[in-house]
Amino acid sequence: MENIIKDIDIIRDEEEKSCDVAITADESTGKTKKLYIESYGCQMNFSDSEIVASIMKDHGFDTTSDFTSADVIFLNTCSIREKAEQTVRKRLSQFNQVKSENPELTIGVLGCMAERLKEKLLEEEKLVDLVVGPDAYRDLPNLVGQAEVGNKGVNTFLSREETYADISPVRLNSNGVTAFISIMRGCDNMCSFCVVPFTRGRERSRDPHSIVKEARELFEKGYKEVTLLGQNVDSYKWSAEENNKARLTKKETALSEVIHFSDLLEMVALVDPKLRVRFSTSHPKDITDEVLLTMKRHDNICKYIHLPVQSGNSRVLALMNRTYDRDWYLDRVRKIREILGEDCGISSDMIAGFCTETESEHQDTLSMMDLVQYDFSYMFYYSERPGTLAAKKLPDDVPLEIKKRRLQEIIEKQNQLSLMRNQRDIGRVQEILIEGQSKRSAAELKGRNSANKVVIVPSQGLAVGDYVQVRITDCSSATLFGEVIDR
Ligand code: SAM
Ligand code: SF4
Repeated sequence: MENIIKDIDIIRDEEEKSCDVAITADESTGKTKKLYIESYGCQMNFSDSEIVASIMKDHGFDTTSDFTSADVIFLNTCSIREKAEQTVRKRLSQFNQVKSENPELTIGVLGCMAERLKEKLLEEEKLVDLVVGPDAYRDLPNLVGQAEVGNKGVNTFLSREETYADISPVRLNSNGVTAFISIMRGCDNMCSFCVVPFTRGRERSRDPHSIVKEARELFEKGYKEVTLLGQNVDSYKWSAEENNKARLTKKETALSEVIHFSDLLEMVALVDPKLRVRFSTSHPKDITDEVLLTMKRHDNICKYIHLPVQSGNSRVLALMNRTYDRDWYLDRVRKIREILGEDCGISSDMIAGFCTETESEHQDTLSMMDLVQYDFSYMFYYSERPGTLAAKKLPDDVPLEIKKRRLQEIIEKQNQLSLMRNQRDIGRVQEILIEGQSKRSAAELKGRNSANKVVIVPSQGLAVGDYVQVRITDCSSATLFGEVIDR
């Protein structure tokens, strides 16, 4: 497994486990066939792979972590940047040999890259049997059956309603303590750099009762934390009559009851005070005071918000079609601080070198970082994606070396800020949830505080799933270190 990760050039930080690739674990429940899934990209994709595993389990497949023993290999792919697609292409070429040794093997490409390239992927990658987009996973058993008798298949139909609400995901790579629950699919925003609206379709929200049921079942199985997932969770909107955001908004006044994100958050928080609740991603244009007030009311809703800014300059934000400007964003941050205080964790996504970005506009991103004092950021340089608004209308005119230099400056700034934010915690007592073994030493465990920071503590008879009070004694820019003071 570690070799595979090295092969595909994935970067992992000190203690962070969730990164850009996840592989199915071994599960033997006596089924006749073996399924291997390798998932790339965002947490939504990892969550989708759990739905895929569940669908395939009902059709005779156990999961395996060894692709050489699999009957079916799925790559659940990401298209967000060109590098993500290149990684998958490279990986497919590595599967050529496995396929030549076992011609019966079925290889499927799922997810965003499948949706973006459709039939073209079958033409370009001869070993691929199936190309299946994110809304067509219920068709997988049928398509696999067809592939087994030699018929290649493509299903990239994008649905306006599908949420897989009735499917109970098979937890893959689970620590038995934290789990992700998908609450919506698709995205109706049209950020000019982003391929997601084209690969994942229109925004729809999942039945809140099925979400609460899933959270309750997880808690009953011993899970202690759920993260509610969506591309833009604050835009969650559901009614019994309509789950498609655009259609729902049009007829909202005529509907009996509409559940918004703050309502859903409260419903999940009420499952049990010992179940921590997180959510991601928040869009600055949509996050409401009601959401912040709901977070404040419930101790078990973690005080952490992933609020991607992308750029600190209003002209660039307008070109990105983010629909907020610098002042709007800073006002939202002021509100977070006012309602939830200075300790609430805030993280961001940043894009360096977007179309026509000048040096002083890049400086605005750095000054925005200083003003907000992000705990953490995911940082990228702009990668033009075919079919997006930016690719059609804006010149990708910042030279690569300048993009990389600006990105490096953003990374350095973030490292300084992360260290500063972590140093504030030294001497404080915080509750952490123990999630697993620390990678550094068998004598240490890692947990997470409310603000989503990883905290390393001595094992001292603690178990995964324990809540413990910890005094923070030291830190690096990525990690806090603590001593247990109470269990
Ligand atoms: N829905 C989330 C939001 O609006 O913040 C983000 C989802 S996207 C999967 C994750 C991040 O990838 C984005 O926030 C953005 O920073 C980055 N990203 C998306 N398209 C990109 C592109 N063409 N080039 C570089 N980074 C990109
Ligand atoms: Fe992409 Fe923007 Fe939607 Fe996020 S909100 S998924 S960046 S289009």
